[in-house]
Amino acid sequence: AGGTHETDVIIIGAGPVGLFAVFELGLLGIKAHLIDILDKPGGQCAELYPEKPILDIPAIKSITGQQLTEQLLDQISPFDPQFHLNEMAVSLEKLDDGKWRIETDMNTAITAPVICVAAGGGSFQPKKPPIPGVEEFEGKSVFYAVRQREIFRGKTIVIAGGGDSALDWTNNLARIAKKVTLIHRRPDFRASPDSVEKMHALTAEGKVDFHVAQITGLTGANGQIGAVKTTSADHADREIACDMMLAFFGLTMKLGPIGEFGLDLTENRIAVDTEKFESSVPSIFCIGDMAHYSGKLKLILSGFHEAALMAHGAFHYIFPEQKLKFQHTTSSRSLQARISGD
Ligand code: FAD
Repeated sequence: AGGTHETDVIIIGAGPVGLFAVFELGLLGIKAHLIDILDKPGGQCAELYPEKPILDIPAIKSITGQQLTEQLLDQISPFDPQFHLNEMAVSLEKLDDGKWRIETDMNTAITAPVICVAAGGGSFQPKKPPIPGVEEFEGKSVFYAVRQREIFRGKTIVIAGGGDSALDWTNNLARIAKKVTLIHRRPDFRASPDSVEKMHALTAEGKVDFHVAQITGLTGANGQIGAVKTTSADHADREIACDMMLAFFGLTMKLGPIGEFGLDLTENRIAVDTEKFESSVPSIFCIGDMAHYSGKLKLILSGFHEAALMAHGAFHYIFPEQKLKFQHTTSSRSLQARISGD
């Protein structure tokens, strides 16, 4: 995170459509950086249904969300895309030389002549836990995601939740924290059995405490949490001392900062033409679920098609002097050379 970068196209969103855009741009000799607030590429496929089979990707009978993501990453690897994960694209600015500058909430700045918004259903944002007074501590000692693992080293941490994120981070941070206490309102989890087993093993070793309880409040002052108050059926109310809390109550998708970029919106999505998938602002394109046009289907295959046309549109901004020759990958030596990374 941080630093300044220059590229040809900044892709906001590393979902399946943003990933395939790297391929279509790469074929035309165009480089790309991708920004995603998630800690991994794949968008909805990786976050919402990694293990569900998708049955309508052309020529592929069945492929899970995670497998599709991995195959897309493999396909685009020759083009060496640069990923800025765990970062939210928050601002857009036009520079004097006509290029765009995007900044993220982790102080990364990227400039490029073209922007491609592939932001899907919007940015994944954590759901807030229904704990009274939690706002006072947010971003200081209460977090909804791990963006820098090191800040948890040596700390006494309470983790709340019962899904994969809660379990994975309990197991992971147990290695570097002073103490981790996992609190979930039920004894059973919505997480992979492997991670649940691992958590129970860590509990047996005394590295993790696990409580079935409901969080009712927090103590502390000036943004620094002191303890988590809990209540449960079989125990009296108690306070669990901690200096950090992580709450994983699931994610929702919100349009987020892209709504403030000055692009024409229709039904909270970006209005585009269907020739180049360009927005109301020249050199800013939008493809995938975030694009709005008459007849749009929110399908991965539609997003792939949109990526190809976007790349052709982007070419004229990146190489204004050049004519774009339409070519097939089967027969074009220059396309084949690009794909093989020569
Ligand atoms: P997304 O996958 O939504 O990815 C967009 C990414 O952009 C997200 O990771 C988000 O965090 C990021 N982002 C947005 N704004 C910002 C910002 N400002 N800064 C940083 N990052 C940002 N489609 C099919 O074709 N076939 C199916 O069988 C199918 N099954 C589905 C099943 C389920 C349960 C769901 C939920 C969807 C299904 N879909 C299916 C739909 C498909 O997943 C979407 O069409 C597809 O994911 C859209 O891809 P995308 O790249 O446009 O956006």
